[in-house]
Formats: sequence, C-alpha cells, structure tokens
Amino acid sequence: MAARSIPTVRLPSDAPMPVYGLGTWRMGESGRTRANEVQALRHGIARGVTLIDTAEMYGDGEAETIVADAVGGDRDQIFIVSKVLPNNASRRGTVAACERSLKRLKTDRIDLYLLHWRGSHPLADTVAAFEDLRAAGKILHWGVSNFDHDDMQELARAPHGKHCQTNQVLYNLTRRGIEFDLLPWCRTHKMPVMAYSPIEQGRMLGHKALADVARRHEATPAQVALAWLLRQGVIVIPKATALTHVDENLGALDLTLTEADVAALDRAFPPPTSPQPLDML
Ligand code: NAP
Repeated sequence: MAARSIPTVRLPSDAPMPVYGLGTWRMGESGRTRANEVQALRHGIARGVTLIDTAEMYGDGEAETIVADAVGGDRDQIFIVSKVLPNNASRRGTVAACERSLKRLKTDRIDLYLLHWRGSHPLADTVAAFEDLRAAGKILHWGVSNFDHDDMQELARAPHGKHCQTNQVLYNLTRRGIEFDLLPWCRTHKMPVMAYSPIEQGRMLGHKALADVARRHEATPAQVALAWLLRQGVIVIPKATALTHVDENLGALDLTLTEADVAALDRAFPPPTSPQPLDML
C-alpha cells in the first residue's frame, strides 16, 4: 500500500498540523511487545502518517523511546505531540520534564507540548514555562488536554493563554458531551480539537448502528467511527499495534459519510441537550 497524503488543519499560529495521527498509550509497558510497537508506528509512517501522539506518562517514558526508534531519520517529516504530567507542571518542573522527554525522543524539539490535565500547579506557571520552552526552541507550540469549557475560558484570560494551540479531549460517538459547549467554544476561537480514544478503545465497535453504516460503504465500524470524527472537523489519533488495525484505520480518510448515515448515527448516539462535565479516561 502506497503512502498517502494526509490533510492538515491550521493551528492558531498558522502552522499546519495533520488531521490524523497515531496514539501510543499502553506502548512501552513491556519489553516483550516493544519491537511490535515500534513496527506498528513505522508501518503507519510508511503509509504516510506524519503525526504521533505520546506523553511522558506512557510506559513511564518508554513510549517516547519507542517513538524515537520508530521515527529515526524521518524526524523532519513527523509532527510529535508529547505531554507533561500535572505533577511536573510547575514553572521549573515543566522545563525539566520537557528536557527529559527530548532526550527520550532523541530530538531537539517537540512540535506540540501539552499539559496532560489540570493539577495543583497554577496554570500561569505552566504557561510561563511553555513560553520559556518556546522561546528556547525546545517546543514549537503548546496546548492543553482534558480542559473543559470553563478551563478554556480561564486559560484564554491568563497571560499568554491565547497562545494555546489545541485542546486534546476524549471525544467519540459514545462521548459527545463536548458538543454542547466546549466544541462550539473551540470552533469560535479557531482552537483545533484533538479527539483521543476515538474508537473508545475498541469498546464501541460492536454497536449495530456502526455496523449498519459500515455495511453500506463496504467499510468497518472503526472506519465509520473515525470518519464521523473527521467530519466533525477534529483531529483523530487512534492507537493500534496490530498492523491490520493501522491499515484499517487509515481507510477512514477515504470514507465520506452521507447525511443519512449521520442521521442514523445521531439516532443511535444522540448529541447532548444540556451541559455535561468533560469525560476523561
Ligand atoms: P483508541 O485509539 O480509541 O483505541 C485503541 C485500542 O483499540 C487498542 O486496543 C487497539 O488494539 C484497538 N484498535 C485499534 N484499531 C482497531 C480496529 N480497527 N479494530 C479493532 N480494534 C482496534 O484508544 P486510546 O489508545 O485510549 O486513544 C488513542 C490515543 O489518544 C492514545 O494512544 C493516546 O496517544 C491518546 N490519549 C490521550 C489521553 C489524554 O488524556 N490526553 C487519554 C487517552 C488517550 P491494538 O493495539 O491491538 O491494535
């Protein structure tokens, strides 16, 4: 299968970011699966994927070393996203955590560095550290993860808060709460949203409505779930270690859902009608 060209969105900075990437949670947790995990990421890269999402938390840093092995000499073609843990997200701690991630990733810069979720360190300190890292060229952009509507409003009011480039949140057909307020806010503020656990870690794939839509397109439930998210204008980062899953998921980029498909999915997975607290995994 040839490498494909993956569409991009514009970050608020105007830099392009691919709409499709590879997740790495649960990678690096066992030496026995390491070679397979590197191979899965390399397989995705060979097929044209240029965004990889990781975090210092995943495999206690080991996932970042897997990303480094998979990216190898292709570093300039890959958009790397990593995350600082809230416990490390003080002004100094964020910088130190980033330096450790850079070493594990065997690179001199992270394309997009996120606060993994809100913790006890003041947001202003984390943002100040992000700005220091950006000025030093160690990160090219920064953003947040698991920020709800009120968190985003608070961030936008903080000094340099408007430099935030993305919010990565749990979003899929079975978790549509963000459509009530957070997603509209992000759209209004031109803030790209990254949807994590886009296939609900596989748990949603047996749903009849997904199978029905998939059958109409000779597609699979995972492809329908991902195509629906892409249609919503968000970035998807499915994780797969099985090479067949890597290939299958990429097929979502070729699937165009019809209005009838979308209506059927809305009936099976209704959108929210009132505010809901942000779900997290
Ligand atoms: P996910 O991508 O929704 O699902 C991954 C699981 O689904 C794996 O067990 C994978 O199996 C399986 N799978 C993948 N493609 C499949 C297919 N076509 N058919 C059947 N099963 C399939 O879940 P996720 O890993 O939680 O989320 C994706 C990424 O988002 C993470 O890896 C991570 O990078 C990021 N994330 C971020 C946060 C945050 O707080 N910011 C939280 C969670 C996740 P195999 O591995 O065996 O192929």
